[in-house]
Amino acid sequence: MVLKDALFNLKQHTDICRFQKKLVKWYQTHQRKLPWRENLDPYRIWISEVMLQQTQVKTVLPYFFNFIDRFPTLHDLAKSDLGTVLKMWEGLGYYARARNFHKAAVIITKDLNGTIPDNFYQFKKLPGVGDYIGAAVQSIAFGHPFAVVDGNVKRVLARVHCIKHPANKPSSHNYFKKYADRLLDKNDPGTFNQAMMELGALLCTHRNPQCNTCPVSEFCKAFLSDKVARYPRRIKAKKVPAYHIAAGIVRKNGKLLITRRKLEGLLGGLWEFPGGKLKKHENAPSACIREIREETGVTARIESHLTTIHHAYTHFKIQMDVFNCKYISGPIHLNGPIDFKWIRLKDIDKFAFPKANLKFIPMIEEVRDDHI
Ligand code: SF4
Repeated sequence: MVLKDALFNLKQHTDICRFQKKLVKWYQTHQRKLPWRENLDPYRIWISEVMLQQTQVKTVLPYFFNFIDRFPTLHDLAKSDLGTVLKMWEGLGYYARARNFHKAAVIITKDLNGTIPDNFYQFKKLPGVGDYIGAAVQSIAFGHPFAVVDGNVKRVLARVHCIKHPANKPSSHNYFKKYADRLLDKNDPGTFNQAMMELGALLCTHRNPQCNTCPVSEFCKAFLSDKVARYPRRIKAKKVPAYHIAAGIVRKNGKLLITRRKLEGLLGGLWEFPGGKLKKHENAPSACIREIREETGVTARIESHLTTIHHAYTHFKIQMDVFNCKYISGPIHLNGPIDFKWIRLKDIDKFAFPKANLKFIPMIEEVRDDHI
């Protein structure tokens, strides 16, 4: 087939149908066996799609199993407190996903008779449901004709159509959406959407795409013109800033002081050890003592340096110096955190912490009451 024909073909109804059939046939044979594909339960599908945003399947799998085990139904999720939900999400990142999902479950239980809306526009009114989650859940669980556009789908579309718009530029999204809508199989949108995503995940990968076994290579403009490596185009990501943080494990009578972050924003609702960014020309121990005082009102003294950890978030990275501290004086006056607790080390697993904290928590040693 020559390139000119291929371009022409994907504008013709019959050839779009051929593309759909070939893709879906491949998917039916090659799809991965995944627990959320076992049935069309919208609750399971919704959980999986929320977890899979920005996260790989292999990372999601154990979280999915634990979550469904702990909250088998939407009602069980709605009944739970947010702290328990965040604990189940601990380490998965992007905690706004868990907070919104929990909020949505409460709304559905209270206001919608416990039934997940079988309507794209109603469903999209729920917290955390944007175009992607809306299209994925509504097409897969209910068969509604909305095309999904995630990173995998964009990569396939960019190559099939040689789309020059950068795939990672927000303003390109509608452009990709138009192509996705045009290709969507409206008779079985759920299967087609999953097939597109699976093609991007298994064959049309970022590196070394398997074009020779691709079911839609005959329609792929990049493949036919030997330009696969040029797509998708991307704008250069900005350099992420790096911050130096100091945090203190403050001990009093054998207990440790932990504080809870406010519910909104980064890592919202999680627990942590008090601390914060170093000021210009400030050293880590001074910043640690200052931050503990500013956030909690407590005066503490540094006993020893526990460790230094490094952690990368999506938009910045941190170096965190962690200190063992001794409580000296002062009642708790919170400024920033919304809650605090003095806990025994053995109880630490009951609370959800950010991943950066999880890196040093195993290094914290139990101290006898009479020691500190
Ligand atoms: S032929 Fe290659 S580049 Fe084109 S869709 Fe298939 S795997 Fe992707």
